Amino acid sequence: MQRQQLRANRSRASKGQDRREDVLNIIEQVKQNGDQALLEMTERFDRVKLAHLKVQPEEFDEAFEAIDDTLLDAIRSAIRNIRDYHERQVRQSWMNATESGTILGQLVRPLERVGIYVPGGTASYPSSVMMNAIPALVAGVEQIVMTTPPGKDGRMNAAVLVTARELGITEIFKVGGAQAIAALAYGTESIAKVDKITGPGNAFVAAAKREVYGDVDIDMIAGPSEVVILADETANPEFTAADLLAQAEHDPLASAILVTTSAALAEQVQEQVLSQLEHLNRKEIAAQSIDQWSAICIANSLDEAFDIVNELATEHLQLCIADPFERLGKVKHAGAVFIGNNSPVPIGDYYVGPNHVLPTSGRARFSSPLSVDDFIKKMSLVSYSRADMAANGHKIAALAEFEGLQGHAYSVKLRMANSEEGSGK
Ligand code: NAD
Repeated sequence: MQRQQLRANRSRASKGQDRREDVLNIIEQVKQNGDQALLEMTERFDRVKLAHLKVQPEEFDEAFEAIDDTLLDAIRSAIRNIRDYHERQVRQSWMNATESGTILGQLVRPLERVGIYVPGGTASYPSSVMMNAIPALVAGVEQIVMTTPPGKDGRMNAAVLVTARELGITEIFKVGGAQAIAALAYGTESIAKVDKITGPGNAFVAAAKREVYGDVDIDMIAGPSEVVILADETANPEFTAADLLAQAEHDPLASAILVTTSAALAEQVQEQVLSQLEHLNRKEIAAQSIDQWSAICIANSLDEAFDIVNELATEHLQLCIADPFERLGKVKHAGAVFIGNNSPVPIGDYYVGPNHVLPTSGRARFSSPLSVDDFIKKMSLVSYSRADMAANGHKIAALAEFEGLQGHAYSVKLRMANSEEGSGK
């Protein structure tokens, strides 16, 4: 595959996303008719007539009864790991006082109210609950509201409900798609508007997030999933093929690329991909991804391989090479880096701690995984001393006058006069 073709790989992000007209219409209906619009659209799109939009207390008890102990134990362990990892990201407010008495600082505050969209149309995703809610909780967000489409029987997926309850989230609404995003952004009678919306979803959800951005903040627009595996002759071809297919089975638009310095490995992986593909329950989806958006590239050297990797700026990067930590400095752009034979992407998708909401479609060049930082904001703090005003006020006034803002200059000069007379604080 040529470099140009690899670059074109990013255009997958825009495939199937053209839902703007539908979404504008849905947003308008929610703004005008609130809960009534949500109930009507849930009936139309999710084919279920709801008595309540909000999940009722007894539904949590039913959900706990419906899931088995092994799954509950896995959910609790994953929550612990993900919480531990995100607690290391917490930022503190700081202040710094100079000898001349000026105090400068930064105040860190959590967002007040956050909405989490958990997709639910064709599958259910307890991991999305954890990955979006835990950084918000660790940041100190006090109000977290969740929306997710109901199943055909009007119930919510039990594992999603249990995960939310384990995290202490009980304000949950059975609404999906663009209408859920509109309700979170603008509010309805039963859903109070939020400051930020996070969470993945289908083309309707993504288009709606694009439209409401600015009125509220959003996390990112997630494109189709992708992995790049950088492997040398020390890599295991069976593992490598399994990891490519694990990504390909997500979506027909998913991309799984092997970049290798070993022609022998390339051949073995190709054979393994074809034979393992036969055993996947999502064989058709994976086959489309492999045929259309995946590749095996043979590089002439490890340096060239790293150049390709950096150009792709992939969501997930696996390094299956000798001495990976010694070469880590060569990685410039990736959402998450998985190192060594025991680190396939699913461990990060579900369990070990880092967030699985990652930049896709080359956005790892300029953005980062979802983190505690996405749920805080920072305020600057300034307390200027009389001595510093006396010493530097003329420079500030000069800058203001240069920009033609006399009022600015005057407010500073007044303080200078005050400082020089030695009166006032
Ligand atoms: P979804 O919850 O995103 O969308 C379902 C909703 O779409 C429905 O409730 C309905 O309201 C709306 N909808 C469906 N057809 C419509 C129509 N014709 N007009 C208007 N609205 C309509 O669930 P989904 O469809 O299963 O998609 C989930 C997506 O999220 C998948 O693409 C999946 O790959 C992705 N995902 C990504 C991550 C991640 O971390 N990146 C994790 C989980 C899921």
